[in-house]
Amino acid sequence: VLLALTYKKLVDRDFRVLAVIEREMPRYEYVPIEVIERRLRMPSSHVAMSLQKLNQLKLVRRRLGDYTGYRLTYMGLDVLALHSLVERGILHALGDKLGVGKESDVYSGLTPGGERVIVKFHRVGRTSFQKIVRVRHYAAERPYSSWLQLAKLAGQREFRALEELYRVGALVPKPLGYSRHAVVTEYIEGVELYVYKDAMEPESMLRDIMETLRKAYVEVGIVHGDLSEYNILVVIEDDKERPYIIDWPQYVEKEHPSAEQLLRRDVEYVARFFRKRYRVDVDTEKLIRYVKGE
Ligand code: ATP
Ligand code: MN
Ligand code: MN
Ligand code: MN
Repeated sequence: VLLALTYKKLVDRDFRVLAVIEREMPRYEYVPIEVIERRLRMPSSHVAMSLQKLNQLKLVRRRLGDYTGYRLTYMGLDVLALHSLVERGILHALGDKLGVGKESDVYSGLTPGGERVIVKFHRVGRTSFQKIVRVRHYAAERPYSSWLQLAKLAGQREFRALEELYRVGALVPKPLGYSRHAVVTEYIEGVELYVYKDAMEPESMLRDIMETLRKAYVEVGIVHGDLSEYNILVVIEDDKERPYIIDWPQYVEKEHPSAEQLLRRDVEYVARFFRKRYRVDVDTEKLIRYVKGE
């Protein structure tokens, strides 16, 4: 709720100031106040008041010293994304925080039409900036705003993957829109597979999961890459269990050198889960061949 409350305190001028800082961030560790003022056509006293407020709300961080400058925080990026989603009629209200993943903060929300949705804010490099520089070479060239670029990239990747998956009829949440690092999807009224006990038809669920992986591989050309009983939501629709696969930003294309290995790992995880919990007798190799369309 902090995010929603903070958002409500902002006026148009504040969003304009945030947007300028966002735009200049690739060029500065902290965007100098003179640059912010130059890019905005508003009195410098207004800019100063807005920056003061944004700093207090922790939407920007101020640097004092040989020059005064500002940079966005994750919350600053969050409110910019929310603003765009609201203006475009994709989102009306933000609700409770449902979870803090390793790679995201997930909120419930409402559309202007009153439908419940999910807003997933991608977080990259929350652990440590050093780590990103080590694993992602291109991050090192633009160290000041790499978290920003990488988080936006994750949002765009997940949204585009979901669009294609949804189009070919895979069981994934319907994507509704995105801005920057924030992705809005339909709310899946279900529970994670690992907490869902006493499945009625485990074999049929496993088949449906494999069918989604097959559509992803054969029709879209991607491998999930982080599949497990935690990234599958089970919904009961028409007395039938329907397993939705979520959490796609780390997907790899099937031509990727690691695709084969990741596909094998995804299938093995799920097969092992059904074998252990439901004693389903599965031939992993057969499943892999099925998913690859062989
Ligand atoms: P992880 O740390 O496991 O990689 P993540 O940060 O990448 O997770 P997701 O797995 O996409 O984030 O979402 C986190 C949690 O939010 C899910 O486990 C699920 O409980 C909930 N969730 C995500 N998307 C939806 C949805 N469309 N409908 C309902 N709940 C959802
Ligand atoms: Mn994960
Ligand atoms: Mn997850
Ligand atoms: Mn994830």
